[in-house]
Amino acid sequence: MHVIELINSSPTTAFSFEILPPLKGNNIRKVYALIDKLLEFDPKYINITAHHSEYLFRNLPDGSFRKVHVRKRPGSVAIASAIQNKYGLTAVPHIICRGFSKEETEYALIDLNFLGVHDLLLLRGDDKGLDAEALKSEDYHRYASDLQKQVNDFNIGISVDGTSFEANETPFAYGMACYPEKHEEAPNMESDLRIALRKVRDGAQYLVTQMFFDNAKYYDFVDRCRQIGINVPIIPGVKPIVFKDQLNVLPRVFRSEIPEALAAELRSCSTEEDVRRVGVEWGINQCRDLIAHGVPSLHFYTFMASDSVYKIAREIY
Ligand code: FAD
Repeated sequence: MHVIELINSSPTTAFSFEILPPLKGNNIRKVYALIDKLLEFDPKYINITAHHSEYLFRNLPDGSFRKVHVRKRPGSVAIASAIQNKYGLTAVPHIICRGFSKEETEYALIDLNFLGVHDLLLLRGDDKGLDAEALKSEDYHRYASDLQKQVNDFNIGISVDGTSFEANETPFAYGMACYPEKHEEAPNMESDLRIALRKVRDGAQYLVTQMFFDNAKYYDFVDRCRQIGINVPIIPGVKPIVFKDQLNVLPRVFRSEIPEALAAELRSCSTEEDVRRVGVEWGINQCRDLIAHGVPSLHFYTFMASDSVYKIAREIY
């Protein structure tokens, strides 16, 4: 079943989570261990993030540096397929267009179709460490909506070079991202909402939010989405705080504000264990409140936080 059907047919608030592919050189066992741990909460689907290559500097034995182009976390497509085969759960690989050419994306879509993976999350991708040329080149899309057009065309048998092919029996279904606290580059919330509306009008079956810690911001955002005609599920993304420095990192990197009540508690923590406890308590209260407000689904970001996600899920599911 597709994500939208899984959410709509779930009698209770659906549970899902996102995993990262292992760092290059590591095996898939850690991914399976994480999934095994969270299986008891009946995940409806599992997302797999995507990561473009980055330019890094490697130290050489003679003391000099060499600039290398490395994809630190390859394997999203393969992991999606492995998860579907091993667990029989719907896997949702992220497809990003930053750092992936239109042609590479087409090959990924072909692979995914052959592998029977037909749910996607379409995103632009972040810019960190990206080759400046890849930002300018015509070979790459600029926005997630350009990638969306490519996937829509692919679904009706139009290739990226304009030629036709026999369309897949099962078209790709997909969700896209949205930002209750506005995307950092959007000039204002109105323009960001217009982008979200366009994503939905052009075929996104649901939206997944950036992490947030203040539910009032999510409720306000959903109201504003409904007012302009966005009627698809808006799935809250939940991330438990596990490190004290996330107090500064999350607002800077993800533009997710930390409410003062949570910030004050985190500041008073003297150990990392304390921080994790506060993060879990906040997460439990946040999720209980979201469920009481009838959210369709809760989507957890597990990166560095799978133990905390487990503790939260144990309390709310
Ligand atoms: P877009 O929708 O393209 O928006 C980017 C900016 O451009 C916004 O400010 C928007 O308002 C503006 N914009 C969009 N279209 C237009 C247009 N036509 N004209 C003018 N302005 C426009 N990153 C990864 O690298 N890998 C991942 O796996 C990943 N997973 C994520 C999962 C979720 C649920 C979320 C919320 C984010 C994820 N990200 C991931 C981060 C994401 O790639 C970044 O937030 C990125 O900066 C924006 O992605 P987007 O798809 O929202 O981009």
